[in-house]
Amino acid sequence: MAMTVEVLLHSFLPSWSSAGILLCYLGYLALAGAILPGKNVHGAILPDGTRLHYRCNGLASLFMLMALLWMGISMKLISPTVIADKGGELLSVTFIFSVIVTFLLHISGCKSRDRSSSLKAHVTGNFFHDWWFGVQLNPHFMGIDLKFFFVRAGMMGWLFINLSLFFKSLQADNANLSVILYQLFCTLYVIDYFFYEEFMTSTWDIIAERLGFMLVFGDLVFIPFTFSIQGWWLSRNKVELSKVVAIADCLVFLIGYQIFRGANRQKHVFKKDPKAPIWGNPPKVIGGKLLASGYWGISRHCNYLGDILLALSFSLPCGASSIIPYFYPTYLLILLIWRERRDDARCSKKYSEIWEEYCRLVPWRIFPYVY
Ligand code: NDP
Repeated sequence: MAMTVEVLLHSFLPSWSSAGILLCYLGYLALAGAILPGKNVHGAILPDGTRLHYRCNGLASLFMLMALLWMGISMKLISPTVIADKGGELLSVTFIFSVIVTFLLHISGCKSRDRSSSLKAHVTGNFFHDWWFGVQLNPHFMGIDLKFFFVRAGMMGWLFINLSLFFKSLQADNANLSVILYQLFCTLYVIDYFFYEEFMTSTWDIIAERLGFMLVFGDLVFIPFTFSIQGWWLSRNKVELSKVVAIADCLVFLIGYQIFRGANRQKHVFKKDPKAPIWGNPPKVIGGKLLASGYWGISRHCNYLGDILLALSFSLPCGASSIIPYFYPTYLLILLIWRERRDDARCSKKYSEIWEEYCRLVPWRIFPYVY
């Protein structure tokens, strides 16, 4: 037992080789983000009337990196299981990186005299609060929008951890239906995320959250390393999934995807063109600003419902013998309930009586007829 703990702790010791992998990965993303083509999208209008611009080339960066890694693997320069083999070390190194970056962000943010909404320093004087929540909305480094950059790195990191675990399963000859369903659903989710990367530009994290430790840690450490818990778990536990459970899981994924993507797309399209039809009919609009039809007429955050179903579909392949693989849907449920409350408070302040009218018309927060 003592030996096992020692081995486990040892696997989390940071190493220079893991630091090298992390820096190469982030360096690649910075370079690819700067040079690869992609759609240029305007961000939301900020309180001072300005808006940022984002080059949505995440999908091109992802495919290019896959191609480069594939070449490296074929030439035997890189091991396809390197990420899975060094998982613990990479986690520690990424955590240390997040702490260092957020200290630097804190120092440079506090020094900022810029009055624009993106760069204005919001300093309360409570160091822990300011470091945790961040002091600037959209800090930049060498022309890179760091918030957009970190979330991209985290989502892509999740996929690469999964792919590395998949190679490990192939090597161990245990890539069964559970492993395939988990890998397939997560891969589709991440590719879809990058395909619709422009939708990210109107999300809460990008428009309302300042860049502090909470967000940087969430993007770089939490997303890739905890969303992949099911993958790590399946690499150590064999699950024989029945056909019924497999079909039910596919349905949960498809329904979740339809709601998640449909709701996010409807809001995105509505923000660009408030007259665009919703499900073939003219949209119901409150106060000229809030969409109250389509998914947004079923519950006020139907997109969260879709995301929770998707999260569940990533865990169902692990069966019911352990609660560990259900960490992600449980966490997401708690996070999105909390997030919905914060968003409700924000919207209530921003839209006042039209938000009240919307709440009267659409009483359900996330789960229709339940909550
Ligand atoms: P939303 O995309 O729902 O954005 C909320 C904002 O949308 C509000 O602040 C308001 O902003 C606007 N809005 C709200 N209701 C309406 C309406 N009826 N009509 C028009 N505009 C409206 O929230 P998030 O950014 O939190 O989530 C985006 C996606 O990301 C979700 O699908 C969520 O599930 C997912 N997500 C996933 C996480 C994960 O860990 N996997 C974590 C967090 C989110 P405005 O001021 O622009 O009007």
